[in-house]
Amino acid sequence: MLTFSCQLYGNEFETASNQAKYCPDCRKKQEIPPKIACQRKLQQIILCMYREKLKSYAESHGLSVNKLFLTALQEYRTNHKEDNSNG
Ligand SMILES: [Zn+2]
Repeated sequence: MLTFSCQLYGNEFETASNQAKYCPDCRKKQEIPPKIACQRKLQQIILCMYREKLKSYAESHGLSVNKLFLTALQEYRTNHKEDNSNG
């Protein structure tokens, strides 16, 4: 038997399988807590919204969405450089 901690509520449980995410209780219920379900939905909505925006923005600049994303990522990294100096 191996001990895992439930990814939903963190309570420890034992199981014979070598990979488990949820305790038997949670698996029985097979329900996702409203908070998580809500976050997932929100994530999807945001992704959808941004995808459309990104797409039209990219097209107006003659870029592919992927290229635009990489450019944005690079810019973000440049603007949020980690400060490694120790003074
Ligand atoms: Zn659980």
